[in-house]
Amino acid sequence: MNRSRLSTFRLFALISLSLSVLLFSFKPINRYGTTDRPRSALKLLIGNLETYILSDGVISLPSIQPIFAPFATEQQFMAQLEKLHLPKDRLEVSSNIILIKKNNKLILIDSGSGHHMGKNGGQLSTSLQTIGIQPQDITDIVISHVHIDHVGGILDEQDGFIFPNAQYHIAQKEHDFWMSDNPIFPNSKDNISNINSGILFAQRTLAKISDRLQFFEYGQHLFGCLIPELAEGHSPGQTIFTIYDSEKSLKHIVDVIHTPFLVSNPEWGTLWDGDFEKAVQTRKKIIAEGVEKGTLFMTSHLPWPGLGFIDKKGTEHQWTIFPYSDPINIVIK
Ligand SMILES: [Zn+2]
Repeated sequence: MNRSRLSTFRLFALISLSLSVLLFSFKPINRYGTTDRPRSALKLLIGNLETYILSDGVISLPSIQPIFAPFATEQQFMAQLEKLHLPKDRLEVSSNIILIKKNNKLILIDSGSGHHMGKNGGQLSTSLQTIGIQPQDITDIVISHVHIDHVGGILDEQDGFIFPNAQYHIAQKEHDFWMSDNPIFPNSKDNISNINSGILFAQRTLAKISDRLQFFEYGQHLFGCLIPELAEGHSPGQTIFTIYDSEKSLKHIVDVIHTPFLVSNPEWGTLWDGDFEKAVQTRKKIIAEGVEKGTLFMTSHLPWPGLGFIDKKGTEHQWTIFPYSDPINIVIK
């Protein structure tokens, strides 16, 4: 057998083997339906835990600096955007929300921006409907932090509850900060009017849901599948989550990192961070842990669906999007 015939034979044998392994080792995963393939909801199996990543839309703003990287030189900043294939003329970040099905619960982490951030946002309810879930079916909403793009979807324009049957859960530290007599942000780089309107919005929202609110502690296991953890800086009590089923897990780091250039340049920061330097420290710590442990991350704002790893390439860290082939199903092995 000549060399090319031999390699053809090997290739054929390999394909046959792979097909038989596939056919006999794996049960097919049930899809949502036979014809509809929603693009705004992605089923994600973490072990046997059924979750979905849902799009709340896109946050789109006309400029990137100074919201991000307020102190980086324009030349340096543009060079990095170019390198990372990111748009230079606008800021665009996804809004990714996870839904967890556990026992009889339908648990959302955060609620999206609702009607507050223009027509590109507030798509969570529509995305839920693509997987056959109505807002009234949601039993629990776990709040990561009280920023408008995370809790703006709790109330509609008439102040009615969008998820009328949901209980809300928040870290005591995050709640108590916003509801204190005088919440202040001495280490924010944002302007005072933005800070004050954020405080008013947070207080109003928390007051409105006070009857439906329960507190959790960092490290406490919630619903048998969630471990909250403090990641302060972006907000005083920002909570990130390990979502797990037996050995399998995903770390949802919420707003620790908004965009790929904060992976390569965590010190550039954002005006959206309540404590600019503390957020940089937290970001660096999470990045280092992710590299060391090979953690699979979910994020609220990195490119849809916000899943990926952090790798070290030379001296620089880089966001590596989780590779998946089926546009509506992911299984974490
Ligand atoms: Zn956010």
